[in-house]
Formats: sequence, C-alpha cells, structure tokens
Amino acid sequence: MRRTAAIGGALVLLLGALTGCSTGASDAEGVHVVVTTTVLGDIVRNVVGDAADVEVLMPVGVDPHDFQASSQQAAAIQHADLVVANGLGLEEGLSDVLEAAESDGVSVWEVGPDIDPRLFVEAADAGEGGGAGRYDPHFWLDPIRDAEAARLLAVHLDEVAPDHDWTAAAEAYAVELENLNDDIVSILSVVPEVDRKLVTNHRAFGYFADRYGFEMIGTVVPGGATLANPSSAELASLVKVIEEEDVPAIFTETVEPDTLARAVAEEVGSDVKVVELYTGSLGEPGSDGATLTAMLETNARRIAGALGP
Ligand SMILES: [Zn+2]
Repeated sequence: MRRTAAIGGALVLLLGALTGCSTGASDAEGVHVVVTTTVLGDIVRNVVGDAADVEVLMPVGVDPHDFQASSQQAAAIQHADLVVANGLGLEEGLSDVLEAAESDGVSVWEVGPDIDPRLFVEAADAGEGGGAGRYDPHFWLDPIRDAEAARLLAVHLDEVAPDHDWTAAAEAYAVELENLNDDIVSILSVVPEVDRKLVTNHRAFGYFADRYGFEMIGTVVPGGATLANPSSAELASLVKVIEEEDVPAIFTETVEPDTLARAVAEEVGSDVKVVELYTGSLGEPGSDGATLTAMLETNARRIAGALGP
C-alpha cells in the first residue's frame, strides 16, 4: 500500500514537471489541495476558485470525529500539494494517515492551532472522558476565526504555488465572513442576556458561546467529542439542569442521531423543543446549510427562534 503510494507520488511529480514546462497560461495549474472536512472544503474552494483542484475527504453529513479514510483517500493525501486539516484532535480517525504524510514530506496545514484556539477549561467542560486542558477543535462555528483561516490559507497556498495571487479571493471571502458575523450578532440580538444558555448534543459550541455571549450549561454527550456515551446519572443531571435553568430547547445536530436528546426532552416533560443545528458538516446541496456562511446563519436563526421571545 505504502509502496504503491510512493510510486504514484513519483508519477504525479513527473507529470507535474512535464505539464509545468508545457503550459505557463495558469501558473497554479495542477495544484491539488486535499481537505479533510466539508466546512474547510468550502473555505478552500472559496479561496482557490478555479485555480486549484480541491478534493474533500469527508462526505456531507458525516461526523468528523468518527471518520476513517479509504486507502484511495490515504493515497490522495500522499499526492497532495497541500493538505488542509482541522487539527486539535477533531479528525481522530485520520491522525495516523496525516502524520504519515507529514513525515513523508507532504505539506500538511492544521488550521486549528493557528487561529487562537480556546481550551476546554470550564468545570462543565471536563465531564466524563475528559476535555479539560485540551484545545476545543470546533473553531469553524466562529466566522471571525474562519475569516482568519481564509487569510492564512492564502499564505500556505503561496508557499506551495507562489506564482498565483491567492490573497485577493481570500480577502474577499474573509470580509464576507466578517460581515456575516455582524448579521449573526443582529439575528441573536432578540435573545435576552439571561436566556443565552445552550444545551447541545455535544460540546461543539464553545467558540460560538464565547463570540456571542452565550453559556454552555449542558450536553447530552459527555467529553469534547461525540464518541462517548452518557451514563443514566449524567442524563438525569442534565434533566435537572434543564428544569432548574428553565431552558426551552435542546440543540441537536445533523451529523448525529437525536434519540437521547429526545428522551431527555421527554423526561423534562414541559415544553422543551428539540432543534437541529449544523455542526460537524455542511448540509446537503440545496439545503439551508449547504455552505459555511449558510450553515452559520441558519444556526443563528434557529437559536434565536428557539431562545428568543
Ligand atoms: Zn465535535
């Protein structure tokens, strides 16, 4: 497998050298970027436009905590000019292939560590299965950090393909994300400060909470990822938190089943809504979460609708 990948890599290099001599029309021709998540895929596509091939490893609707690469995808990583990954432990099932590629000399950029990551530090963050002292990987739910990611991407593209100007498109997209942030502030302005409390399926909304002045008061799934199972005592204490804080909604996610959240809502008895948000993946094409900007705006509208007057 590794040997095949290495031979394939040599062929791609050879072909790259040949086409590099014969064209000259587009200097970035043949630049191949492999991206792990659908969200980062959207950022990369917005920055590169037609100037590079973009291959996104994860299909829409898949939980990024729980994704394994196929052998073809592992080979694609080995042949990439640039691999863009989330990092901070998000892609648990890809860490081995990403590390192998990096030690074979492939340019792998993990975005998370470069955009001022937040720690899972609050007491409530620690939970069963840990989380305390580790960085929170869910930065893409903050459009200001996404804007920074777009700008930094231009720098990394410039390192692997310096003849193309990547900065103009990156800057335009970054500004779009910053404008979206202003829109989200205004969408959320209907939620009174005392009601800015989030109960979510898993601990994905730390960056969102920090950015918009919300507090995460409970999750259905303990720990920092989606991979742990709550005990019945943990679910009972979540029910208690929801009752005591008089929280009107539990936010579930498109990439995970909502069975447990519905059971918790039923246990609370009063009028607790179960509202689905986009978290680890873009929505299907044509949905209201089909792009990063659409998914962030849709989430804000659904949170405002559930927690607002
Ligand atoms: Zn997550």
